[in-house]
Amino acid sequence: MCSTAENRAADKKAEEKTGKNGTGKDRTAQGKVYLVGGGPGDPGLFTLRGRELLEKADVVVYDKLVGQGVMALIPRDTELITVGKVAGHHPIPQHEINRILLREAQKGRQVVRLKGGDPFVFGRGGEELELLVEHGVPFEIVPGVTSAVSVPAYNGIPVTHRDFCSSFHIITGHTKKSDEADIDYEALVRVGGTFIFLMGVTAMKKICAGLLAAGMEPDMPAAVLERGTTAHQRRVVSDVAHLTEDAAAAGISTPAIIVVGRVCALAEQFHWAEDRPLGGLKIAVTRPKDRNSALAGKLSDLGAEVVVLPTIETEALTDDRGLEQALTQISDYDWIAFTSPAGVKVFYDKMKQMQMDVRRLWGLKFAVIGEGTRKAVEEKGILTDLMPEVYSGKALGQALAERLKEEQAAGRRARLLIPRSKIGTEDVIAPLKEAAIEFTDLPVYDTIYLPGGGFAFCDETVDYVAFTSASTVRGFVKMNENADLTKVKALCIGEQTAAQAGAYGMQVLVSEKATMDSMVDRLLLERRSARANADQLDQLDALEQAAQQTYTGRPGGAAGGAQ
Ligand code: SAH
Repeated sequence: MCSTAENRAADKKAEEKTGKNGTGKDRTAQGKVYLVGGGPGDPGLFTLRGRELLEKADVVVYDKLVGQGVMALIPRDTELITVGKVAGHHPIPQHEINRILLREAQKGRQVVRLKGGDPFVFGRGGEELELLVEHGVPFEIVPGVTSAVSVPAYNGIPVTHRDFCSSFHIITGHTKKSDEADIDYEALVRVGGTFIFLMGVTAMKKICAGLLAAGMEPDMPAAVLERGTTAHQRRVVSDVAHLTEDAAAAGISTPAIIVVGRVCALAEQFHWAEDRPLGGLKIAVTRPKDRNSALAGKLSDLGAEVVVLPTIETEALTDDRGLEQALTQISDYDWIAFTSPAGVKVFYDKMKQMQMDVRRLWGLKFAVIGEGTRKAVEEKGILTDLMPEVYSGKALGQALAERLKEEQAAGRRARLLIPRSKIGTEDVIAPLKEAAIEFTDLPVYDTIYLPGGGFAFCDETVDYVAFTSASTVRGFVKMNENADLTKVKALCIGEQTAAQAGAYGMQVLVSEKATMDSMVDRLLLERRSARANADQLDQLDALEQAAQQTYTGRPGGAAGGAQ
């Protein structure tokens, strides 16, 4: 539903003209290639070392198996080169990928070659090193969590279990020379154990037939596991005689692995990933660039697949004479109102730059728009004096107007400073004007909408996009210019954010209160009602299947594991 513009390459070209390699380092510096395993999809399974390297890479060469959550960890100004199969195009041949790695390293760049799963488990990692070794290019290998073991785990299938097997075998269903691998099924069946086939979806029929012809019992449990560890993972558990037809009935496609062995039956008892409160949901969380998203952590703790997407950046105004003057005369004010953590940061950064001691704020009262801003103020050692019950600009303006009027009535001075965004709305100040309260509306930072980058973060696989402010909505829209916004399900923090999302035609889900916890509650509520509906449909299915069983004699639930 959304797409992003390819604009990093042009920036990079401009940089290269200036003789830099993207990090400000000299081009004569020695380049290096890091072969990094991206894991099976869930960004929580990506390694710490991998993350560190992504942060400092000049260029990332990636393919389509790498999860979006991992791609989102790449800094925006890093060049991206895709070498995966993109719809309608042929995949880039392996020798070409090898040449790209060599070319980039020889420019003196730090190159991360990011691959799905583990780079050496059917990942052609070995092939990619050959040319580098030949040219004396240094490299490092960062193993990844392979899909062969983690995808079964996320489906409640332990690849070994002492009651059932003493080995597991990872086999490719596809070799370099032919589309169907030449597998010695007799040897496999003789050794026994759990068999895990990668790249085996197209060869599934052949694989099952081969195992049966080699003497495997037809009722040996078997499973096919699609898009494992992601929100939309699906599982079909059957037996080796019926796996192909059951997988076809469920419409299974790549990427998927086939698991054959008695351990597959354990999925019924051990399935877990999709059962988590937000299991099955993929959520893009938009946020300002310089802030961590507490919301992302809450959502992934509840089992959602989260893609964190910075859409805006706040930047202190370069001309900050207004702020400097306000700080110099801070004792002229009695109240200060912050409408965002960004405002708090700019204010205190300026104090520090001016070598102004925090005790100069003595006597001032502090008002904040909501929880996030209160936290930012409390981190500076100050407990706030006013926060409206509803976290909105309008409510803050009204609460301030009321309080300051009371103070004036009591004969106290009540002068107010509001350091906020250059694009701040009228909401906060309208009630103040109405109540004839004296205030200084001081723009201290600007909001910049970030470019999309070279990778599409938002597509039809995203179930919800979470917005914590109206400006993140605007940033998202700018970033996804060609998107059909009517397909976006927006989870919004409060009425103001919801109104902005609604104005763009998005489907809006709004939290009761303007807090992140309330956003999570709203989603949980939605999820519970969706599940209740699905349960009703399942009951109808079960009745239908029971009726069918009378005719086929085989339990209609063989493919019942599909989520
Ligand atoms: N190096 C990778 C495997 C590359 S071969 C690893 O260690 O996992 C590509 C195959 O991996 C796919 O055809 C599929 O069989 C499997 N695969 C990778 N990611 C998967 C996922 N998330 N779910 C299911 N299968 C996956």
